[in-house]
Amino acid sequence: MDNKKRILIVEDEVTLAMIVGDALEEEGHQVITAENGLQGIDCYYKHHPDIIIADIMLPEIDGFEMVRRIRKDDKSVPVLFLSARSSTDDIVFGFELGANDYVRKPFSLRELVARVKALLCTNDQKNKKTEFYEIGLYTFYPDIQTLLIAGEKEKLSFKESEILKRLCENENHPIYSKDILLAVWGDDSFYNARSLHVFITKLRHKLEQDMRIKILNVRGIGYKLIYEAFM
Ligand code: CA
Repeated sequence: MDNKKRILIVEDEVTLAMIVGDALEEEGHQVITAENGLQGIDCYYKHHPDIIIADIMLPEIDGFEMVRRIRKDDKSVPVLFLSARSSTDDIVFGFELGANDYVRKPFSLRELVARVKALLCTNDQKNKKTEFYEIGLYTFYPDIQTLLIAGEKEKLSFKESEILKRLCENENHPIYSKDILLAVWGDDSFYNARSLHVFITKLRHKLEQDMRIKILNVRGIGYKLIYEAFM
């Protein structure tokens, strides 16, 4: 995971922006600053920050309006408001606009850095897509080499998982044994081809709870995964 992030700070108190910026740069991040709401929007589109730290009381347009406009295009960039305003209404309004966190001035730099880190971390996890394939009644998660059916987990070996992944990527199309062998075994010797056939048999067995799933032999080529939905 790349820990270096781009952070946009929108704050008209230049000294404060600098102090916060320095602290975040020390954490290894790249910091961009803007001094008013309109500049903030410009910087957002120019730099595509990973997080926005915004004051509420800003010249031109305030932090709320700025975030409202950015949220029209981007629902996911984390936003942390900094503000001296601390009435509950303001906080609620901020969250309704899509703010993710809120820090009251004066704040400790350590707390702010920790909150930024937490927001970035949550966002990274959200963005990290878990790759999976739906095969009939099964869900297959190649990363964890697992088949899921009716809440039951079936663990696959590394090779089984790698083979099934390739079959899923090419669903309904034949895939060359040679390609699977080179990718998974590193060579396509006769011995390995026999071994591949054994793995295919094991996979058929592991997928047999849904009879509509078939791994077919394709003569002279290899194998093909099909799902007979209208059987
Ligand atoms: Ca201000």
